[in-house]
Amino acid sequence: MLTKNGEEQRSVQTTEALASDQRKQSSNKGQCSLDFAQDYAPALESTQMVSINSRYDLFINGKQQAPHSKSYFQSINPATGESLAEVAIADEQDVQLAVQSARNAYDKVWSKLSPAKRGRYIYRIARILQERAKEFAVLETLDGGKPIKEARDVDIPLAAAHFFYYAGWADKLEYAYPGKSVRSLGVCGQIIPWNFPLLMAAWKLAPALACGNTCVLKPAETTPLTALLLSEVLQEAELPPGVVNIITGTGETGSHLVEHKGLDKIAFTGSTEVGKAIARGLAPRGTKLSLELGGKSAHIVFKDAAIDQAVEGVINGIYFNQGHVCCAGSRLLLEESIAEPFIEKLKARMQNLRVGNPLDKNTDIGAINSKAQWERIQSLIKIGKQEPGNFFQLDTKLPEKGYFIAPCFFTDQSSSNSLSQVEVFGPVLSIMTFRTPAEAVVKANNTQYGLAAGIWSEKGSKIKDVASRLNAGVIWANTYNKFDPGAPFGGFKESGYGREGGLQGLHPYLEVVH
Ligand code: NAD
Ligand code: MN
Repeated sequence: MLTKNGEEQRSVQTTEALASDQRKQSSNKGQCSLDFAQDYAPALESTQMVSINSRYDLFINGKQQAPHSKSYFQSINPATGESLAEVAIADEQDVQLAVQSARNAYDKVWSKLSPAKRGRYIYRIARILQERAKEFAVLETLDGGKPIKEARDVDIPLAAAHFFYYAGWADKLEYAYPGKSVRSLGVCGQIIPWNFPLLMAAWKLAPALACGNTCVLKPAETTPLTALLLSEVLQEAELPPGVVNIITGTGETGSHLVEHKGLDKIAFTGSTEVGKAIARGLAPRGTKLSLELGGKSAHIVFKDAAIDQAVEGVINGIYFNQGHVCCAGSRLLLEESIAEPFIEKLKARMQNLRVGNPLDKNTDIGAINSKAQWERIQSLIKIGKQEPGNFFQLDTKLPEKGYFIAPCFFTDQSSSNSLSQVEVFGPVLSIMTFRTPAEAVVKANNTQYGLAAGIWSEKGSKIKDVASRLNAGVIWANTYNKFDPGAPFGGFKESGYGREGGLQGLHPYLEVVH
């Protein structure tokens, strides 16, 4: 196959290989306690509508450009370990070009456009994303390993919804800040992680553009492909060249971007370690910064909670997206009197979780995003096993290829256990107990982070009281991991600062003048 620009394309070979893996699994009946293929035949999503180029260049000034560095890296499909495509590495000169192009676009076009016209472009992006949703979902799953049902039902619809939402704000900023006048910042550098690749791109770009800024976006090195596909959408939407530039590469590319003196704003989502380094680097300059970093969020389940519903919420909170969620409910605080039956119900429910080929529509838990992350999670599980407490892991056959980890949890944990403190970013839950609401609050707050929490109780007054004492940016009651573009998201303490989503999500991209 040939693309428009004459590049060779590869059809995606993974579907057949994985289907045959699954058939092998189903012929090995009896080897594991539960064989999923016994009750569900593989239901693989087709990869037909996605065409992956063999090589991707940088997206600068509205067009694909070969990198000055002449270097490329491979993006891997973590469900197979095979390379999907070669992707450009932006060096310092490439970053300079991208920032320059964003600056020109800001000065000459975007800052001069009426807010309503800006909004129209953003609406167009949202609509095209909706039209091409299936293509994006499959590509997200191939590049990042998340189950297709999540990419299809969560990531892509929410990304489109985010563009729709902020498109609406573009010409209504005066209502967001009544009686005040606001202005855009200029050029934004935006660095995103690999757990929700397209969604994080939307969280960054949509409010920035709505507020009248131009952008240089740096996707994560393990999941660059949907951001690069988004560059096609931007072209299709006829967004003026340079308003959004997408530069790929490793952490080094990211650090060239944050060190560039021509930026007015940096937005970063990723590890606390890198976030802190960025904040230190920017301190003398005072460039506006927002950080969305890690978490060690707690569920608090009271004995009066609807237990089956809470079990479902806890499962969703930690095993959704392989636990690659910054606000994952990675700690579970159970009221002592219900701890035992709750844990039994949790185990029973876990028996029905399907771990395997992310392209299978029945898969609940897909591939760990990269070999490095797989190794990191395994080493943390090892540490957890050496410390006091008990360990349970779902006994299920994992695909032979790719990076998979069966969901697991540690019980009898205290706040001094490593896994009650360290962010794992994997399907690993740490369980402890409490006797009083006050003890639950102390334990939930006993972490360097403060991103999210979940409270489970039938009593509204108890929920309200406990919520008011938790240091967490997002608190769900009797549910978990629910997102909406209209609701602000962000952290306390070392989970970062600044909010994304909602009216509050405009603030990091504006200056209130008077
Ligand atoms: P990371 O922070 O290194 O990577 C996130 C993004 O930052 C990527 O685009 C990366 O290329 C870029 N980056 C890396 N170093 C940089 C630097 N010095 N300057 C500028 N940009 C830089 O995260 P990781 O190594 O991929 O994951 C490690 C851990 O981080 C995970 O195990 C998890 O605990 C945490 N994490 C959190 C989130 C989140 O959403 N809060 C997302 C990803 C990872
Ligand atoms: Mn990849």
